[in-house]
Amino acid sequence: MRLVEEQKITRGVPGFAERVAQESGQPIEACYQCGKCTAGCPLASAMDLKPNQVIRAVQLGLKDMVLDCDAVWHCSGCETCFSRCPRNIDMSRVNKALSRLCLNEGRKPRDPAVATFHKAFLESMGRWGRAHEVEVLSLTKLREASQRLKDIGLGAALFEKGRLGLLPSWVRRSREVRRILADNAARAAEEAND
Ligand code: SF4
Ligand code: SF4
Repeated sequence: MRLVEEQKITRGVPGFAERVAQESGQPIEACYQCGKCTAGCPLASAMDLKPNQVIRAVQLGLKDMVLDCDAVWHCSGCETCFSRCPRNIDMSRVNKALSRLCLNEGRKPRDPAVATFHKAFLESMGRWGRAHEVEVLSLTKLREASQRLKDIGLGAALFEKGRLGLLPSWVRRSREVRRILADNAARAAEEAND
């Protein structure tokens, strides 16, 4: 585990595991490290902390290790881990809760493009009720110099195959989505001022 080797492990932060359990609504304490989540995760090879390691670090209260890792931001929310977990732990919800805690504390992913993409994704969700891929990619590329020329060929191929729609599509209850996002933002601002 690269991060364990690189970082000095300090005593766990009291109450951190409980806070993450509350924020995510997941029974963090129930994980017994079977590793099925990691074995099935399609993105585990790109993660610095694997899904089961994230849970273990949370259980131990290793707040800095978890909030500074990239894995939280790489999770696609596919829920493969959830479908395999014998203790019904939904890692995508845990990762979402951790990314919210990161942002509330003003922490940023090590790769700035990840934060830029995250912001563009939420903006697009707020506008249309669902993410409009072309808008999200365009905003990310415009705002992040390192991303401007990346994957241009892939984007063109997807467009050619009709996988990238130029026009956004709305969801019926987009106002509801906007309200949820606004509530989350207000809650995050409140927590940041505490
Ligand atoms: S599958 Fe569930 S119980 Fe097993 S390591 Fe992952 S989170 Fe823990
Ligand atoms: S939800 Fe996230 S952690 Fe779980 S399998 Fe998918 S990418 Fe991996």
